[in-house]
Amino acid sequence: MPRTTKPAKSAPAKSPRPKSASRTKAASVPSGPRRSSGNTRRRVAKARLVGPTTGVLITGGASGIGKATAEALAEVGRPIGIIDRDGTGARRVAKAITATYGVKATAIACDVTDRSAHEEVVAKVAHDLGGLGGFVHAAGIDGASVIDDLDEASWDQVIEVNLTAGALFTKQILPHLRRSGAGSAICYISSIEGWFGNLVLPAYCSSKSGVLGLTRSVAALVAAEGIRANAICPGAIDTPLLQPAFAFEGILEGIIARTPMGRLGQPSEIASVVRFLLSDDASFITGQHITADGGMTSVSGV
Ligand code: NDP
Repeated sequence: MPRTTKPAKSAPAKSPRPKSASRTKAASVPSGPRRSSGNTRRRVAKARLVGPTTGVLITGGASGIGKATAEALAEVGRPIGIIDRDGTGARRVAKAITATYGVKATAIACDVTDRSAHEEVVAKVAHDLGGLGGFVHAAGIDGASVIDDLDEASWDQVIEVNLTAGALFTKQILPHLRRSGAGSAICYISSIEGWFGNLVLPAYCSSKSGVLGLTRSVAALVAAEGIRANAICPGAIDTPLLQPAFAFEGILEGIIARTPMGRLGQPSEIASVVRFLLSDDASFITGQHITADGGMTSVSGV
């Protein structure tokens, strides 16, 4: 809905704008920031920082999209808790975040498939950060294999990391989000492969479709409390996860050819969407997913 534009309290002394011109401008630009006033620019810059300042727990925060998300959220002042099986990487990211952005950051080495550790890990991060108002599930693996060669253990591992851990961490984190209250939010990293099949990624596609079901179910549960849950479906993003696929001739070129923007996405281009979904700017968005794929699924599948 367009915002109404309030008239200025007093007109400038030297060059008052004719009323008709002012009305015309207001009518043609019904919403969005005006660029003509220094005061307005300052208000816009400040508004970008408005939102929860509560701690955020991020799984898979030592690398790729999770790491970029930790940096993007720290940039707007949110304390960060990083969970990753790569404890050294997680600690390195936490240290760099505190040094760069001056926020509290804590890191715990944890395999998210270790269900017995979840409660303790969440409690420790909440304690270190002084509470939790956000959760991002970014830990993920792909477990490539056609269904004919399906290895049961590999199937279980992909579902456990990508989907089940997201659900079980949510169960542990919800009491903390409720304590922080309305404005708390969750973001699950799904994939465009949550919508499209991929012959070599049956477990991955199934897990990422499941994440969308989890998103909608959690969102419905907590919506009335003012807590939101959304998902992001990235396209091909330049992270270590994709590197093994690029060893096969033509894979990278094929992805780029099918992406209208003609390039891979950067982790920061997903992180900025997570930051939006965890902010008050997304206060009426819940149970949804946002696709960020350079246009790939606007013209074809994956
Ligand atoms: P990365 O491999 O760069 O980051 C994933 C992180 O999760 C790594 O640090 C990884 O550790 C960690 N991790 C994996 N398994 C576990 C586990 N069992 N316990 C704890 N940590 C674990 O990949 P991305 O940043 O690309 O992936 C982030 C998310 O984005 C994933 O859910 C992925 O499916 C999704 N995604 C990625 C896309 C892409 O093109 N890159 C596209 C669409 C979705 P380790 O390095 O040891 O594996």
